[in-house]
Amino acid sequence: MRLISVAVPVPQLDALTYNVPHAFPALPPIGARVRVPVGARLLVGCVIGHDAVGEPGTETRDVTEILDREPFLPPAIVDLCRWVADYYMAGIGDAIGVAMPPASRRPCGYKTRRVVAATPHGLSTLGSDPGTADHRGLTPRQRDVLAMLAAAAPGLPATVLRSRGASGDVIGRLAARGLVAIRAERDERDPFERAALANVGRDADRALTGEQDAALATLSRLADAGRFQVALLHGVTGSGKTEVYLRLADHVCRLGRQVLLLVPEIALTPSVAALLRSAFGERVAIQHSALSDGERHDQWQRIRRGDVDVVVGTRSAVFAPLARPGLIIVDEEHDSSYKQEDAPRYHGRDVAIVRAKAEGALVVLGSATPSLESYQNAAAGKYTRVTIERRVLDRPLADVRLVNMREEYAEQGPDVIVSHALAAAIEDRLARRDQVVVLLNRRGYSTAVFCRQCGDTFECLNCSVSLTVHRARAGWRARCHYCNSSMDVPRACRKCAAPYLEQAGFGTEKVEQRLVELFPGARVRRIDRDSVRRRGALTAMLSKFAAGEVDILVGTQMIAKGHDFPRVTLVGVISADIGLGLADFRAAERTFQLLTQVAGRAGRGERAGEAIVQTLYPEHYSIQVACRQDYAAFFGRELAYRRSMRYPPVVALINAVVRGRTFADAMDAATTLVRDLDAAAARVPFIVLGPAPAPLGRLRGEHRVQFFLKGTRRAEMRRALREALAAYPHLRKRVTIDVDPLNVL
Ligand code: ADP
Ligand code: ZN
Repeated sequence: MRLISVAVPVPQLDALTYNVPHAFPALPPIGARVRVPVGARLLVGCVIGHDAVGEPGTETRDVTEILDREPFLPPAIVDLCRWVADYYMAGIGDAIGVAMPPASRRPCGYKTRRVVAATPHGLSTLGSDPGTADHRGLTPRQRDVLAMLAAAAPGLPATVLRSRGASGDVIGRLAARGLVAIRAERDERDPFERAALANVGRDADRALTGEQDAALATLSRLADAGRFQVALLHGVTGSGKTEVYLRLADHVCRLGRQVLLLVPEIALTPSVAALLRSAFGERVAIQHSALSDGERHDQWQRIRRGDVDVVVGTRSAVFAPLARPGLIIVDEEHDSSYKQEDAPRYHGRDVAIVRAKAEGALVVLGSATPSLESYQNAAAGKYTRVTIERRVLDRPLADVRLVNMREEYAEQGPDVIVSHALAAAIEDRLARRDQVVVLLNRRGYSTAVFCRQCGDTFECLNCSVSLTVHRARAGWRARCHYCNSSMDVPRACRKCAAPYLEQAGFGTEKVEQRLVELFPGARVRRIDRDSVRRRGALTAMLSKFAAGEVDILVGTQMIAKGHDFPRVTLVGVISADIGLGLADFRAAERTFQLLTQVAGRAGRGERAGEAIVQTLYPEHYSIQVACRQDYAAFFGRELAYRRSMRYPPVVALINAVVRGRTFADAMDAATTLVRDLDAAAARVPFIVLGPAPAPLGRLRGEHRVQFFLKGTRRAEMRRALREALAAYPHLRKRVTIDVDPLNVL
């Protein structure tokens, strides 16, 4: 028997063992794709090892097809996936799945497009006299299409013809008569087209500031060493970190190695991608999930072929198949979107560090508000700290002013959304033709509906959360932000039929409406997940804002970070405390980061900026230090709190959520696991907290109970959890494990 280990695309499954029959002369290499039987199905898996051993007493099945003779995934990436599966306690198939380009499980991964060309017969028909037999039967539409094709020798994509009014029907008829031919062509579209290329204003020759120069010198020196190291680039907002990245990237490329630049969210990618494109031309690839499958696949293939030196992308780009990465930059390293909230629940920044270690590369973690984890590592000397304390051209940081909303409510009643101070400041900017950004980190119109007569509230039928009301074309729609189920908001109460339904709380939609009422002459636009659902909508809106076609941009955290709009001189924060109410030990850190980042959007041009922060808790330390933009003060205070409570980064956490059809089901299963874990914890030093109802007690119709493992020895904590789960295999599917959780729900 010739046995191999194969990762198959089945959730939570470990590697499976298969035999390679002698009909295949050679063993498939690690990283090659193979077709294998799994149950009654044939699936495409990836070879991850040649060291497999058969299970005694079970039959080892045969590989049915070998799809690659060379590794499809580079072996280094296979190793990285094995680490991810082990560390995050995910199935190997889940981990390999994030590294594979979409469509790679289909034999032909290329996206094709249909191209239509006129045949010689079609051309001669066109040339013929309208009176002759050959011409008979051509409708004017068909004749137009033929004429279009005659003018475009190799043919036109079907999509282009359609956009010029030629229906599929017309083309089909022409094809049936042999007048046109349709061929499938590999479609390698250029996703950079959509990037905001027009808005790139980079002067590659401009002089660096003294601090940028010093940072670049230090980082270049680290890169020259050509071995694994981590640097934390702590630079205030507007300090010109991007320019440092670009020059460092160029330096590393000249050393003959490649560069990976990770950015948190797609909202930030268009402009960064465009900057890289202008700096590195064709040698750049882009990887993120908002690309079409075909685009993503094409970009992946370009990287795999070695056609690119620089890859920019969101968290999964950390698995990009670069052969010799010498530099991995994690921009805005504190950003929570680096954590994947589905299996495998990996953290892109942490995987980047593991990858760099294996490849002997330099990691640069960049942020104005580093995560506590990274800052502590830098303070402990594990990372090299590089700081930029001033903005470029000595521009001052935005002045931050607090507005106590309790006073505002006392004066004007509880329905105030925009305070006097903020309204006056907006008025002033509009008069000066400056731009304004208004943040509220909560989407929708209102956050709750209730009956004033009987008190009935609108909760999701599947989840223990209240529904958010959105304004739809047809009326009011209440939607669950967890399971996405929705219903029309009726005119009368469902329980008591009283016509006194009231909406409470507010989100971005209502803020937008309020601003339009207050400033009728202003052009107000909104950016949140609802408004930019359509592909390209976000880039389009950001470009409009950059071009000065919008005066006030309202939005969620999507508008808070990264963007560089020099004409923004005012940032308003509608409600700074949203995150503080959560029973989450990271609440203060998140609030501090969000406020510092959004204040960082103001005053990036020639005129100084100001931020006005509305809050109910002006004395809260995370709001106070964010006002002063004093990271060191925040870090000291927050770390002391984490120490006293024994929270990360002082200890490690693993979260397990157990689901059940009833609460008792979930609680019983969790109790069983916790009993075993308590026994294990008596031998190794960690503690088990719980089980207890999860904060989101019901989700998508299932009840949820959670427990935590807390300690400093992650490997032993994982081992104990793995053993407990192995003892109850029937529970495995009902348990979600999150190692180093960021959001606990
Ligand atoms: P950060 O990412 O640190 O918040 P950016 O990289 O977005 O800051 O840079 C802020 C602004 O400063 C950008 O408009 C950028 O083009 C500009 N900039 C960067 N470096 C310089 C420099 N050396 N001289 C002048 N302007 C610069
Ligand atoms: Zn729901």
